Amino acid sequence: MLRKFINRVFKRADAPVAREPSVIAFSSHGISRERISSGSRRVCEALAERGYKAYVVGGAVRDLLAQIAPKDFDVATDATPDEVRRCLRRSRLIGRRFQIVHAYMGQEVVEITTFRGALGEDAKTDAHGRVLRDNVFGSQAEDAARRDFTVNALYFDPATEQILDYHHGVADLKQKTLRVIGDPKTRYREDPVRMLRAIRLAVKLGLAIDPAARRPIREMADLLENVPAARLSDEIFKLLASGHAVECLRQLHAEGLHRGTLPLLDVVLRTPEGERFSMLALNDADARVRQGKSFAPCFLFAALLWREVGVIWRRVQETGEHPLPALHQAMNEILSAQGQKLAITRRVAGDIKEIWALQPRFEHRVGRRPYSVLEHPRFRAAYDFLCLRARSGEIDAALPVWWLAFQDADTDTRNQMLAALSPEGAKRRKRRRSRRGGKQANGAEGESAAADFAALPENE
Ligand code: ATP
Ligand code: MG
Repeated sequence: MLRKFINRVFKRADAPVAREPSVIAFSSHGISRERISSGSRRVCEALAERGYKAYVVGGAVRDLLAQIAPKDFDVATDATPDEVRRCLRRSRLIGRRFQIVHAYMGQEVVEITTFRGALGEDAKTDAHGRVLRDNVFGSQAEDAARRDFTVNALYFDPATEQILDYHHGVADLKQKTLRVIGDPKTRYREDPVRMLRAIRLAVKLGLAIDPAARRPIREMADLLENVPAARLSDEIFKLLASGHAVECLRQLHAEGLHRGTLPLLDVVLRTPEGERFSMLALNDADARVRQGKSFAPCFLFAALLWREVGVIWRRVQETGEHPLPALHQAMNEILSAQGQKLAITRRVAGDIKEIWALQPRFEHRVGRRPYSVLEHPRFRAAYDFLCLRARSGEIDAALPVWWLAFQDADTDTRNQMLAALSPEGAKRRKRRRSRRGGKQANGAEGESAAADFAALPENE
């Protein structure tokens, strides 16, 4: 009885609402209003002019403090979505349940969210405790408590250049700790995707996950199975495009989080060749992102799933099917299996298939066929994929070397290259070789193929 009473009076909210934030002045954090995007600054000004509170919030403030260029600048405000719309002419409402506003400021789209309220006792959850509805507005302090990590509950006011810090996020960032706001188990149950976010953000920012937040992950990993595919794929996509995909995947493995997120990747990484191929592709993707180059999800997904396609492709051919229809059957099987969990969009799936379907066509270098391969809109990605296969040791390097030369050659040279591959050309070469008495390395395309291959471009 007494314990019940004490519990009721002193019950710790799952994510404690800190009423008074620490106010950190410019002189101590050093982030001036010029450092935020002009779009988000103008949005905050427009809202403040009408008497609303408006702050740049979350990842952008965190990244600026950590000396990383923010990806985007989100705004949080006490204005309701309708009120926001009235302040900003070029804006529209997004989302059905919890409405947010997108404001179009020149080239920039600024996402504006109204402060979220605390989760009530009656918050709708699924059987595992995952919060399904999340649509009450609240105070700024409540909004801060609803965020996932202390380093993400920071609000920058462009007018005063102060940072409002509700959960000691600035100190955690200095101490290189990623800490969950509230009880980690409860917060993971509310939204299991937070476990993946913990890994991604810790790797991105070079933070150690606080032991209390790390410990429950292994036992709670299975909760990810109930997360809708679209949310999961959003997060996996961010992870793969982070420029730290290799390290993130390593940590997902270490924490037992890889199962259920990329089921086929799990299978792929179990075989050494699969691992080699995937790691090459992932390292390439990381290098590209870090150099500020574009990231093509279709290329990476195509690479991660290729081994599995190969297994089914061979199996279908063993039943007597011709190679091309067998390949199409294998592609469809893999994409529908992976698509269920990862919600690969139809467009990306189409691009992946084109990259795969061009692979056998690189081999058939007869008549006009190489020309139609060359003119294919996906030639570049498919050729990069061919190079990846060669680098992994799956195919002979001579094939991409031939295609590299063929791309750059003039018409006469191209015709000669094709003639050399015809049965007569092959016979002529054989005669020449036997006259010389020499041996050719690596198939028909030329002695220096393997050496030339060292100079092949990596996935440009
Ligand atoms: P990045 O932009 O580098 O991917 P981020 O932290 O900004 O990282 P976003 O998905 O842009 O990630 O989210 C913006 C903010 O919204 C976060 O900083 C955090 O405050 C809050 N947030 C995002 N996802 C969650 C979640 N699952 N639970 C609670 N708060 C979240
Ligand atoms: Mg962000």
